Amino acid sequence: MNLSPLQMAARTTLPADRPAVPPISGRTAVDTIAFMNVNVVPLDREGVLPDQSVLVHDGRIVGMGPAADIPISESVTRIEGEGRYLIPGLFDMHSHLLSDDRIADDHAGAELAVILANGVTSIRIPIGKPEHLEYRKRIAAGEMIGPALHVGSPQIAGRAFGSVFNGREVETAEQARQAVRDFHAEGYDFIKLTFFISEEVYAAAVETAAELGIRVVGHVGPQVRLARALVAGQQIEHLDQYLEAMLPEDAPTRNSLSGIGIWQRPNWESLDYIDEAKIADLARATVEAGVWNTPTLAFLNSSFGTGRSDRQIAESPDYGFVSAEVREELLRGRDVYWSNPPPEERRLRYVELRNRLTRALYDAGAKLMAGSDAPEWMLLYGFTLHRELESLVEAGLPPRAALEAATRNPAEWLGVLDESGTIEVGKRADLVLLSANPLEKISNTRRIEGVMLGGQWLSRIALDFLLDRSAAELSQASLRDAPESDSE
Ligand SMILES: [Zn+2]
Repeated sequence: MNLSPLQMAARTTLPADRPAVPPISGRTAVDTIAFMNVNVVPLDREGVLPDQSVLVHDGRIVGMGPAADIPISESVTRIEGEGRYLIPGLFDMHSHLLSDDRIADDHAGAELAVILANGVTSIRIPIGKPEHLEYRKRIAAGEMIGPALHVGSPQIAGRAFGSVFNGREVETAEQARQAVRDFHAEGYDFIKLTFFISEEVYAAAVETAAELGIRVVGHVGPQVRLARALVAGQQIEHLDQYLEAMLPEDAPTRNSLSGIGIWQRPNWESLDYIDEAKIADLARATVEAGVWNTPTLAFLNSSFGTGRSDRQIAESPDYGFVSAEVREELLRGRDVYWSNPPPEERRLRYVELRNRLTRALYDAGAKLMAGSDAPEWMLLYGFTLHRELESLVEAGLPPRAALEAATRNPAEWLGVLDESGTIEVGKRADLVLLSANPLEKISNTRRIEGVMLGGQWLSRIALDFLLDRSAAELSQASLRDAPESDSE
């Protein structure tokens, strides 16, 4: 990048290859802001750095060190950090929006604000559409407030499903190749696979993606199976096909609980034949293949395993962010499933096995990323990323590893680790200030005192304003395909 001498002079505190982060929504981010006496959880090294000054200018971290070593001039805006903890902005690697399909597109801004107010400064939208590419551009340019967006392609599926199918039906190898070429050319960040994918379509999709240098992410179906996905180097969502890979060859049933298979009650019988001794081998094979997983434990474990009562749902913080008719729509699947659920013993076994597998993957050195799968079943975006961190710790990960799954690991996978994911001089100032130490108790990530997005400071008061405004809007949002009212 070529800078004029004047530009160079204006940026003496920044490396020359670090452009200023664009301001948010036309508001200036060029002010210099300092976090004073704060405990930093940098995540590029072990532990906590106590009593630090962190200096932010032009949207980037330009200085960090013991308070005595970092001179802070009088004109700098100060944020008191004593007794507080500064962590990198969080990533949610699997978050849909209600405006993807259920409510109108013009509610996306309110949704992204909810995510941001939860300390989530980057998200990956697994199933993208053209509007997401537009938001991605506007957010990066500072014209729209929201987390940095990483956008998957419309879903590639063997056949269309759902009331709004945001994807492409692909039945042949040639259709698969064309779909991958088209989505790559349209500017999506990765290729998303979902259901009913044949072996032939899979092979064509992963080969074409490899030729184009775009990665494949998503479900693994029963026709593809885990071993094939590991060979392909696919980034796997939901731990799909892992349980099936734990079945012995002579198991009386191999019916899949991955993807849509979980809805079939008879499929749950396969859990009785699982050979847990295979877990360690699968974890090793995953490491050797270099395959990363987004387990989405909170969503799957609570939705299909332990369940959530009406009261728990009504008392959850996300409840007020949807209208009654959207809520009903989001809970329709839950109501069907829980009207005749599999036996409790099998459901708890499902949770236990998923947790053990997650822990084994971590122990073996396989890379994990936090993803919420919000807003399915009323587990809304933002809030559910914190549930996922807690679920990862319940599965046996140390809090630090859970935090890495929502910071440096996603940044590494997304190829933005030189920009974000840890707290280091030169990086974008995407930061979250907490009132307590998340390494001692992971749920402390919920205790947010403020969020910094590209150098723009959003205090608790500002975050509450964003949340209130979004709740007011989203609680009135109607379903896209709402029936005509009787009065018309
Ligand atoms: Zn999803």
